[in-house]
Amino acid sequence: MHSKQPISLISAFLCLCSTTSPNLPFLSKHSSFYFSTQSHSHIPSIISPPTPKSPTLKRCIALLQTCNSKPKLKQIHAFSIRNGVPLSNPDMGKHLIFSLVSLSGPMSYAHHMFYQIHHPNIFTWNTMIRGYAESENPQPAIHIHDQMRISSIQPDTHTYPFLLKAVAKLMAVKEGGKIHSQTVRNGFESLSFVQNSLIHLYAACGLTDNAYKMFESMTPRDLVTWNSVINGFAINGRPNEALTLFRQMGLEGVEPDGFTMVSLLSSCAELGALALGRRVHVYLMKVGLSGNLHAGNALIDLYAKCGSIREAHRVFDEMGVRSVVSWTSLIVGLAVNGFGKEALQLFGVLERERLMPSEITFIGVLYACSHCGMVDEGFRYFKRMREEYGIVPKIEHYGCMVDLLGRAGLVEEAHDFITKITLEPNAVIWRTLLGACAINGHVALGEVARAHLARLDPKHCGDYVLLSNLYASEGRWLDVHRVRKTMLREGVKKAPGHSLLEVGNCVHEFVMGDRSHPQSEEIIDMLEEITRLLKLEGYVPRTSNVLADIEEEEKENALSYHSEKLAIAFALISTAPGTPIRIIKNLRVCADCHLATKLISKVFDREIVVRDRSRFHHFRDGSCSCKDYW
Ligand code: ZN
Ligand code: ZN
Repeated sequence: MHSKQPISLISAFLCLCSTTSPNLPFLSKHSSFYFSTQSHSHIPSIISPPTPKSPTLKRCIALLQTCNSKPKLKQIHAFSIRNGVPLSNPDMGKHLIFSLVSLSGPMSYAHHMFYQIHHPNIFTWNTMIRGYAESENPQPAIHIHDQMRISSIQPDTHTYPFLLKAVAKLMAVKEGGKIHSQTVRNGFESLSFVQNSLIHLYAACGLTDNAYKMFESMTPRDLVTWNSVINGFAINGRPNEALTLFRQMGLEGVEPDGFTMVSLLSSCAELGALALGRRVHVYLMKVGLSGNLHAGNALIDLYAKCGSIREAHRVFDEMGVRSVVSWTSLIVGLAVNGFGKEALQLFGVLERERLMPSEITFIGVLYACSHCGMVDEGFRYFKRMREEYGIVPKIEHYGCMVDLLGRAGLVEEAHDFITKITLEPNAVIWRTLLGACAINGHVALGEVARAHLARLDPKHCGDYVLLSNLYASEGRWLDVHRVRKTMLREGVKKAPGHSLLEVGNCVHEFVMGDRSHPQSEEIIDMLEEITRLLKLEGYVPRTSNVLADIEEEEKENALSYHSEKLAIAFALISTAPGTPIRIIKNLRVCADCHLATKLISKVFDREIVVRDRSRFHHFRDGSCSCKDYW
């Protein structure tokens, strides 16, 4: 799998068109989709010797089999005790626990019952593992499995999917590896649903290559297999591979479902492949899935991450059913795209509708306050988050507050705030402060932040850039020089910068100095023309004075344009006038490119959206939505 290949979006889309089945099942991410192998009608035989069933026991079991609420279950439990059926009866215990788990717990009740059963059989052990795997706290599933082994109970085919689901939720890589070896030893590894669970586990733990290895060894591969591996690449930041596999899936005649579509949408969001994402949207409408909650949420996320917030808003408005995830996706989307006021207005509607915001909703709210320079409001929301909604602030919320103060120019207050945080401030917090110092020219606190960063994350090239910018802003050239020398001595590697741009059904990747693009010459000609026109607007390129600014990616000479400039030039020669230009950049945009892009948006009358490492820049008519703070 080669991630540098430009992806032909046409062929990915052709796969979409060739699928005609109109009624694809859509399975929610939280359903037992991967693990739905066990059902009430499929109860394995009991290992313990059969005991004659009393009429009361039979009646209780019959009642439990049709029981559909927890109060009813408690009534049946009480009825059984009153009529002399002990819980220690494995039959009674088995059905009680199964019904309880099917009604989603609570697991403490199931646990209490489980330990009263004499010799629970494998079905009951599996039910306990499943119950924990599907609960908020899956850890005890592993303990139950350990105890099962100590009690010499042999696992069966239903044990591993549940157990692996629990391990995947916990992202317990080591435990997962151990369980994988056990399945090899006891011969269960060859079962396709165990293999699917293993793919899911490795993907969830970020071990995408292990997941792919498992996938490659499998024949036949069912829809779950494809979904698991495609999702693995999509969630681990490898969208190219996800799209390539999606194409391969179509070629092998496997029809996608809602799960596949959600993975596809998240890959498009990562790559900024808006056109393909829009086609997935059309496809979802065609097969009647566009009203689905998960699909809707994935679409909001896609449009927001591609910087097309209007479309995100439209999806949100048209959703019949919305969850807090839908609200949060749009609030965060509005905030990071620079529409702070709109984000706060939407939060107001959410509160009026008496919905419960999540901790992520508040990230969006605080970010919106920061963007609008609303310091007092930001602190009010921060307080209300804890007092009204009982959300304990996480390090990310503190990070937003530091950003809020820094952006408002209150650098000392930001530092004071950090010293009062009860949690250990992480590198992101100190980096936010360093950024604020660089913009506001506060050398003393910048050095304090840098000292913490040297301890927490010494090889982060962006920090050297910020520090050097700080010294440069004060004209301290010797210090700038010292930073550069330290960087060389410490062997700090600059991440190679690249930009992605979707044009004509392909995502094009641009790297500085790379002349491999077929239209490379025209791009360079266009860049020279851009520079000429920009100079008429008073633009002075900041390419020659290396002392002025260490960039995250350096320019070797005046012709080595940064990747986003190559992408913009290509967009200008290959798209119709007035078409918005959308670029995804892996590093922070440098000052020179930021200034140039602002002017290009004015001179060429184009809306340019750049998503860089930390935020969105919407350039329009000579200014940027970030208000030059990034
Ligand atoms: Zn640049
Ligand atoms: Zn900007």
